[in-house]
Amino acid sequence: MFIFKKIIDITEYVSGIRKGKGTDYKSTPAGVNISIGFVPTMGALHEGHLSLIRKSKAENNITVCSIYVNPLQFNDKDDYEKYPKNFEKDIDILKSTGCDVVFLPGVDEMFPTVDYPDYDHAGLDKVMEGKYRQGHFKGVVYIVKKLFEIVKPDKAYFGLKDFQQYVIIKYIVKLFKLNIEIIGCPIVRDYDGLALSSRNIRLTPEHRLIAPFIYKTLQEVQKKYSDLSIEELKQLVTQRISEERIAKSEELIRLDYFEIVDTETLTPITDKPAHNVIACIAIYLGEIRLIDNVILFY
Ligand code: AMP
Repeated sequence: MFIFKKIIDITEYVSGIRKGKGTDYKSTPAGVNISIGFVPTMGALHEGHLSLIRKSKAENNITVCSIYVNPLQFNDKDDYEKYPKNFEKDIDILKSTGCDVVFLPGVDEMFPTVDYPDYDHAGLDKVMEGKYRQGHFKGVVYIVKKLFEIVKPDKAYFGLKDFQQYVIIKYIVKLFKLNIEIIGCPIVRDYDGLALSSRNIRLTPEHRLIAPFIYKTLQEVQKKYSDLSIEELKQLVTQRISEERIAKSEELIRLDYFEIVDTETLTPITDKPAHNVIACIAIYLGEIRLIDNVILFY
């Protein structure tokens, strides 16, 4: 497995691969089209990340994973500082998963030297995560676009856990006519339904015990979607949260948002359209903010 820390080194590697004379892909004759799959991450890798790596490996000749804890996308400095970072362990995990290349740039390598652009996201960034985490998508898009320009992948893999991110990245790829196929991958969950997240290891044992109620509540919304109105579904979620708070004498469960939105425009729906919609939630357990979602059908 190749590990690159400098943009110039991975650029050289990628252009070698593209010319068919990469040091890694020895058997490829010049001119043969090599497919590069790319998985951008912030490290603290878990099975969710690895599902993306495995899918990329199955669909491409070369899989590149980047690990970069992007300070620009954290609206909370404390969250950035406490974000789990264990690059050596991550590298071991990637090696054993058969990843071909890791790009591990330092902040100095990726940080913008001048003010960085705030692209038009056609309103996709104005709801949910965009509303509650000011500047989050501006930072995400700047770094993902920069990584795309460096790695030049054919396909890039994103988890549907960060559904809004997936939709915005797809929009950006279209906006800039980037020749990259964006592939959304299903949410990987723990044995009790909790969506895997790098932040889960920061949950206190008490909060970890409570956490599965998030997905349980979303499943209940899914089940009752055809019988209840949007307003009733919202009330149901609020009610389940207050029951949880009372049952666990837990002060520190706080809902950031629960929204039922169109899967394409991300605008909240009021009545139920015939196409897919998605229920998204962001909730604090103590100081840890978790997100999850379920697709809703009739
Ligand atoms: P992160 O390291 O949190 O920025 O995540 C890197 C990529 O892994 C993103 O595309 C995430 O959506 C994806 N991801 C994170 N957790 C999961 C999960 N539980 N299941 C599937 N994909 C995930």
